[in-house]
Amino acid sequence: MADFDYDLFVIGAGSGGVRAARVAAMSGAKVAVAEEDRVGGTCVIRGCVPKKFMVYASEYSKSFETAKGYGWDVGTPTFDWPKFLMAKDDEIARLSGIYVRNLQNAGAELVHARATLKDRHTVEVEGKGTFTARKILIATGGRPWMPRDLEGVEHAISSNEAFHLQQLPKRIVIAGGGYIACEFACIFNGLGVETTLIHRGPNILRGFDDDVRSHLAEEMDARGIKIRLGTQPARIEQTATGLVTHCADNHSLDSDVVMFALGREPYTQGLGLEAAGVELAANGAVKVDQYSRSNIDNIWAVGDVTDRINLTPVAIREGAAFAQTEFHDNPTSFDHEMVASAVFTQPQMGSVGLSEADARHKYGKVDIYLAKFRAMKETFYGGHQRCLMKLVVEQGTEKIVGCHVVAPDGPEIIQMAAIAMKMGVTKPQWDATCAVHPTLAEELVTLRDKYMPPALGAVA
Ligand code: NDP
Repeated sequence: MADFDYDLFVIGAGSGGVRAARVAAMSGAKVAVAEEDRVGGTCVIRGCVPKKFMVYASEYSKSFETAKGYGWDVGTPTFDWPKFLMAKDDEIARLSGIYVRNLQNAGAELVHARATLKDRHTVEVEGKGTFTARKILIATGGRPWMPRDLEGVEHAISSNEAFHLQQLPKRIVIAGGGYIACEFACIFNGLGVETTLIHRGPNILRGFDDDVRSHLAEEMDARGIKIRLGTQPARIEQTATGLVTHCADNHSLDSDVVMFALGREPYTQGLGLEAAGVELAANGAVKVDQYSRSNIDNIWAVGDVTDRINLTPVAIREGAAFAQTEFHDNPTSFDHEMVASAVFTQPQMGSVGLSEADARHKYGKVDIYLAKFRAMKETFYGGHQRCLMKLVVEQGTEKIVGCHVVAPDGPEIIQMAAIAMKMGVTKPQWDATCAVHPTLAEELVTLRDKYMPPALGAVA
C-alpha cells in the first residue's frame, strides 16, 4: 500500500473541518488542516458569532425603551460603533485562538496557507510544497454571492464587510429577503440606522411558514424598517452624497451603504477539484452521499461547500460523522431531518419541522394551532411587540410536524421543542406537559383550540 504524508488532509478550518480534524486526530491518525484565512471559518470569523454580538448590541435600543416603561431613567443612551467593533474583534480573536488550541491539543497539524488539489491524493500548499494524503476532506464553506453583472455592484458590500464598516452609516439599503438580509436589517435598524430592505419576492424569508413570514415582516415594519417587496436593485450609482439604488420598479433609494445578501455560493472555485475528478453540482457544491463521500472514494466534503443544510451545527455533525466513520470504525451518517433553525431578527424566530404549506403538501390534512399575543413584559408598559406561536399537527397520527415561534428568545425555545419533535412527539403528549409559569414558552403547551383562518372560520 502506498505511503502517504498524512492519513487525512483537511482543507478549511471552519466548523466542519475543525471538528472532523479533531475527531480524526484523536484516533491517532496523522492529520493536517490548511486554512488560508483565520481559523474558525465563516461562523466564528464573519458569520454567526460576530453577527450575534451585533444582534446583542442592537437589541439595547428597545431595551432602553422598555426600561423607561419599568421606571428607569436611562437618560439619552449613545452608541460607540468603533468601541463595539474593537471589543467584538478582540472576542473573535480569542475564540479563533481557542479553535487553534483545540486543534493542536487533539494532535492535528495546522497549516496557515491556501491548499489546492493536484490529484486525488496530492495537495499543494502555497509556499510550503506538496503533500500526499490517504484521505482528503473538503470543508471550504461558502462565500457571499454577488450579482457581478449589475451596474455599480462594486459600490455594494456583502455581509463580510458589514462586520468592519469604518463608521456606522446613517442610511442603509439591504437587498435580499433571506436570513442574512433580515438579520442585518434588524441589526442596523436597532443601532439607529435608517434601514430599507428590498426583496424581489412577495414576502421575506421564503421557505418559512407563511404566518411567520407575514408576522415577522409586520413586526420589522413596526420597528421602523422599510420593507419594499416585489422589486430589486437594477443599478447602483455613486453620487456626491452617497449611493443611489435604482430599483427595477423605477423607484430609487438614497443611502450611505448598500449591502447585498442574495445568498451564498459554495467555495470550490480554484480548489483543483477538477484535477482530482470530484463531481460538482451546477452551483459548484461538492456532490456527496449520506456519509459525505464524493464520487472519488478517498475525498469527502462537509458543511456549506456541499450545500445541504447550510448551518454551523450541521457542518459540525457532518464533520464528526465523517471522522467517526473513517477513523473510529463507527459508521455514522448525520440525519438531516428535523433540524431546527433560528433567524436572529427582532423579534427572533425559531422554527423546526414543516411550514403549514409544506405539511399540507406532504400529509394532506393537518390541524393548526396558533397564538398571537403581546407578552406580559410588553403589556406592562404599553409596548406593541407581538409574539407568534404555531403548531402544525398531522391529522390522524397527531404528530407535531411543525413548530414555529416568533418571540424574544424564540431560538432558545425552539431548541427544546426540537428535542421532542425529533423524538416524534404527538399533540396529546405535548399537551400533557405542564406549563412553566409565567413564561412566554408556556403558550406553546396551552394551545388547545384548532385555528381557523378568518375565511375558513366563517365557512365552518
Ligand atoms: P438565503 O438563501 O437565506 O436568502 C437569499 C435571498 O436572496 C432570498 O431572499 C432570495 O430570494 C434572494 N435572492 C437570491 N438570488 C437573487 C437574485 N439574483 N436577485 C435578487 N434576489 C435574490 O441567503 P442568505 O445570504 O441570507 O444566507 C445564506 C445562508 O446562510 C442561509 O440560507 C442559511 O443557511 C445561512 N445563515 C444562517 C443563519 C442563521 O442560522 N441564523 C444566519 C445567516 C445565514 P428568493 O427567496 O426569491 O429566492
